[in-house]
Amino acid sequence: MATMNPFPLEHGRIAYVADFVLYGLAVALMSAVLLRGAPGISRTEIGAMALAGFVGWTLVEYAMHRFVLHGLLPFRRWHALHHERPRARIGTPTTLSMLVFLVFAFLPAWMLGGPWRAGAVTLGLVAGYLAYTLVHHGTHHWHGRIAWFNRRRRWHALHHHGEGPSCFGVTTDFWDRVFGTAGARPAVRAKTGKAAGCRSAG
Ligand SMILES: [Zn+2]
Ligand SMILES: [Zn+2]
Repeated sequence: MATMNPFPLEHGRIAYVADFVLYGLAVALMSAVLLRGAPGISRTEIGAMALAGFVGWTLVEYAMHRFVLHGLLPFRRWHALHHERPRARIGTPTTLSMLVFLVFAFLPAWMLGGPWRAGAVTLGLVAGYLAYTLVHHGTHHWHGRIAWFNRRRRWHALHHHGEGPSCFGVTTDFWDRVFGTAGARPAVRAKTGKAAGCRSAG
């Protein structure tokens, strides 16, 4: 449980859903502001920077999961709670993730490129984070039959149930393949069909 943490990690239903809603609103609001145009910066550049943030998020996601959530205390201990109970409403508190985006993305980017470029890059990162939280929630709770999503679900199941630490990417397996952490199916359990990696029989 989250009793020893400065931020609660296990959420009630409202706080858990609020994270998706607040990030959805943040993406919509930031997009609306940036689409109106930034002084002295073309929409093309703003769009390119947002896209760079969105694509860059996939590497942040991989590195955070591999080296922070599975490498660094106390995050490793907190993340272990999710591995113990994957379907529980355990996740990064919205206040903490927003603080991280502000301090480690928006403010440094502002110092380097001004507020509008910083806003565009942060929009991309935040949209990537929203995609990550939605896909991650889905891998544990949704049973849809979209081919791309089934692949993501099997990949994340390998992270939870495969042999050895692997499959750290959630929204994409690209960086696992680049850095050699693509996973192998658990051989014994796969025959029974119980391995979550085989859940969708794909
Ligand atoms: Zn993990
Ligand atoms: Zn998970």
